[in-house]
Amino acid sequence: MKIWLDGGLQDIESARVSVFDHGLTVGDGIFETVKAVDGRPFALTRHLDRLTRSARGLGLPDPDLDEVRRACAAVLEANPMPLGRLRITYTGGHGPLGSDRGEHGPTLVVALGETARRPDSTAVVTVPWTRNERGALTGLKTTSYAENVVALARAHEHGATEALFANTVGQLCEGTGSNVFVVLDGEIHTPPLASGCLAGITRQLVIEWTGAKETDLPLDVLERAEEIFLTSTLRDVQAVHRVDARELTGTPGPVTAKAMRVFDERAGADLDP
Ligand code: PLP
Repeated sequence: MKIWLDGGLQDIESARVSVFDHGLTVGDGIFETVKAVDGRPFALTRHLDRLTRSARGLGLPDPDLDEVRRACAAVLEANPMPLGRLRITYTGGHGPLGSDRGEHGPTLVVALGETARRPDSTAVVTVPWTRNERGALTGLKTTSYAENVVALARAHEHGATEALFANTVGQLCEGTGSNVFVVLDGEIHTPPLASGCLAGITRQLVIEWTGAKETDLPLDVLERAEEIFLTSTLRDVQAVHRVDARELTGTPGPVTAKAMRVFDERAGADLDP
């Protein structure tokens, strides 16, 4: 397996970053996960726009997007696979043992892992911890993901694959690695970005392609929604058949099934929508 580091391809076994890299010591980094179908990245331009927005939010120098594109292409070419997940990581780089940034420039790593198409439906749980809709990192795709790791472990303990957060004012927000949509009176709704959720690429495409509305939703909407689904780069559109103890029969419901169809058709036709 070849990855991109220090401006070129390296063997993953011998590639090294500093043990004082701030991505490791203080979680000062950002990332993108990009789906690659037969070696071709999906929605790469949107992912690179978000990478730049996240860098600016953290005060990191803008990533060199030409290099990131070259890195993605080189890693994909070196590691052929039918369905892959590119992982672009960009950190504050080697720094002092504190939170101040050092003189060294950022670290860019591009790696690739194999993935599989997700099942059409899944179970989710809600967790008692909240997303902060007004934090310095809100809406940025940072490597400070430990809270998501803890919540996802909770989901797995309950036989689910995703955990859903409310924000600090009790509104539905997002999952650990996905956005959430609900169907009410036949219409699709998803929490607005002001809820504190990530501006998911899949979320945005589903809004554009289905006309889903951005609506403030209380967490308990999950107890009455006719249908619920998740979106993410690796899940695409995935129906929810259980939320906590509530079973949703007939999953995927008709509105979700249509959203899945529309997404598959449009995404399949245009790799850089
Ligand atoms: N929300 C969070 C916290 C995420 O980490 C992700 C993706 O990893 C998403 C939402 C979905 O975003 P996207 O559709 O861009 O993958």
